[in-house]
Amino acid sequence: MEENILLQARGLVKEFPAKGKKRVHAVSGVDLDIRAGETLALVGESGCGKSTLGRTLIGLIPPTAGTVCFEGQELTGMSARQFAPYRRQMQLIFQDPYASLDPRMTVRDIVAEPLVTYKLCPDKAAVTQRVRQLLDAVGIPDEFLYRYPHQFSGGQRQRIGIARAIALQPKLIICDEPVSALDVSVQSQILNLLKDLQERLGLTYLFISHDLSVVRFMADRVAVMFLGKLCEVGGTSAIYQRPLHPYTRFLLAAIPKADPRLRDGSVPLLQGELPSPIDPPAGCRFHTRCPYATDRCRAEEPALRPLEGRQVACHRAEELMEK
Ligand code: SF4
Repeated sequence: MEENILLQARGLVKEFPAKGKKRVHAVSGVDLDIRAGETLALVGESGCGKSTLGRTLIGLIPPTAGTVCFEGQELTGMSARQFAPYRRQMQLIFQDPYASLDPRMTVRDIVAEPLVTYKLCPDKAAVTQRVRQLLDAVGIPDEFLYRYPHQFSGGQRQRIGIARAIALQPKLIICDEPVSALDVSVQSQILNLLKDLQERLGLTYLFISHDLSVVRFMADRVAVMFLGKLCEVGGTSAIYQRPLHPYTRFLLAAIPKADPRLRDGSVPLLQGELPSPIDPPAGCRFHTRCPYATDRCRAEEPALRPLEGRQVACHRAEELMEK
């Protein structure tokens, strides 16, 4: 395994039972490396399996098949007891901070909870002292220590969620749409806070988002997901400058522009609806929406393969590079 890989997934599959004998194919054979200290963005339309993949990677839900290694140690199949020290290293920041904070608890108790669970401080005073430090790190004033979640703004609540996530000094944080519920003016403050904490604490982020403008600001690398599979993975600037997979091209061309005349007219608009993950299309899962699909695409699934310094899963990627 490459030395700086913090988390590595191979052949990861997650299926859920659906009506009758059917199954929801949420994640279908994902290989992914997350490098220590980077921000890797996971992008794609809602319903493509991003959040399920994030939760499966950090063991919040067990995979149906495949393996996940953290710092070279395989996590899949561990007992709860064996997994406990790894659970600490991997935290999650949610989209809706209000839903993730217990409304009956003060901010002090919300942030203290993980410290108490893991017995990280010798006594109550030390817990409060550590909570103060954590709140200071995320820009929540000390006098708010005994307030309740409803007494804060959306941005402040997300700061509290972040303080709780960093309380255990994790190495990896899954940020699941962390700013999508916030006003645009507040979004940039939270994104800057996440960047600042990453630098100060040496954090690694898997940044899940459908917002490609936010991703461009945050990410070192981008993994594009469509219906449970990765279709392109590479450096942010390479992908934004020259997307190679047709789906990535659609996503980037669809970023709202201040002037609609600036839309990239060379990329045809995406056709149709996202197919159902209960009955995904055979061959390339994107073929029902892809204007470049051929018989081969309908019959044979493209593997993720190296091309132009990144990985792309498209039979026609070389040809399309010329278009
Ligand atoms: Fe389109 Fe075929 Fe490439 Fe899939 S493999 S993205 S259907 S051209």
